[in-house]
Amino acid sequence: MMGTVVTIEVIGHGETDERRAERANAAARAIDWFQRVEDCCSRFDPCSELRRISERIGAPVRVHATTLEVVRFALALADETGGAFDPTVGDAMVERGFDRHYRTGEAVTVTRGVPATYRDVEVDAANATITLHRQLQLDLGAVAKGFAIDLAARELSPFANFAVNAGGDLFVGGHNASGDDWSIGIRHPRDEAAVIDTLRVSNVAVCTSGDYERRSPRDQGSHHILDPRRGESASGAASVTVIAPLAMVADGLATAAFVLGPERGLELLARHGVEGLIVTPELERFATPGWSRG
Ligand code: FAD
Ligand code: MG
Repeated sequence: MMGTVVTIEVIGHGETDERRAERANAAARAIDWFQRVEDCCSRFDPCSELRRISERIGAPVRVHATTLEVVRFALALADETGGAFDPTVGDAMVERGFDRHYRTGEAVTVTRGVPATYRDVEVDAANATITLHRQLQLDLGAVAKGFAIDLAARELSPFANFAVNAGGDLFVGGHNASGDDWSIGIRHPRDEAAVIDTLRVSNVAVCTSGDYERRSPRDQGSHHILDPRRGESASGAASVTVIAPLAMVADGLATAAFVLGPERGLELLARHGVEGLIVTPELERFATPGWSRG
């Protein structure tokens, strides 16, 4: 789903057949949330709600609560970071070759007229509408996966002990199969086979943004996290991991802190009261004071 692999683990011990079936059904419903968020929030799918908004410039378009919520959060983060985080990077991503629907292989094209920013997007929460004031393509790649993880986790909450893993972005509930807190290895950004840190956590989301994850098919020197202010790949970090109560928050803040770099990135995380680890391209580590406690 969403161009990555989603796995769901729900722990059950010595249960009845009926309970086992309930657990399997809940896991299926949890997976289904990824499809539903994709139907709303994919910039790669010509039928998604996100793409429909781009077809009606200047007009308020009524959207599903999912789209509204994700766009609203992304715009608030854009405002807070002065546009370091900006969900209007869709066209810039296409220009860098991030343009294929993972399932159909179909390519998307650039919509752009004049350069746009998050200030050209208006959300009317009361009427559940989104208006684009310029031609642009919204891109929720930095936050929508997190939102889907949160919805999946909510579906699984009656089972207490579970893990949702979407390409390394996670929510872990309760305990693992051994009855311990979940153990999460954070990948070393320059050594695929090594971990740079290990966390022991429960009932939190852990999301990582890394420059090693997706390289531009057009230019192998650049990657998928853009600094929209410079029009280039962000270079102040190699990876950022954030621990937060919600995956959408961890996902969005990890991407935003990545663009801001260590100093301003840590300030952002502190303002939100979350823990995080920023590793620079020189492999220097910057962590929030409570990081090691998780
Ligand atoms: P994150 O750091 O969480 O996010 C990086 C992503 O955020 C970038 O890929 C870009 O989309 C966006 N971004 C980059 N710079 C900024 C910035 N400055 N501010 C805000 N956002 C920024 N990939 C495909 O190749 N094909 C698909 O069909 C496809 N469908 C998807 C559908 C959905 C609903 C979602 C959520 C993702 C989909 N993806 C698809 C993957 C997506 O394009 C990103 O690669 C992925 O979400 C990145 O997640 P991450 O955790 O690796 O990185
Ligand atoms: Mg993110």
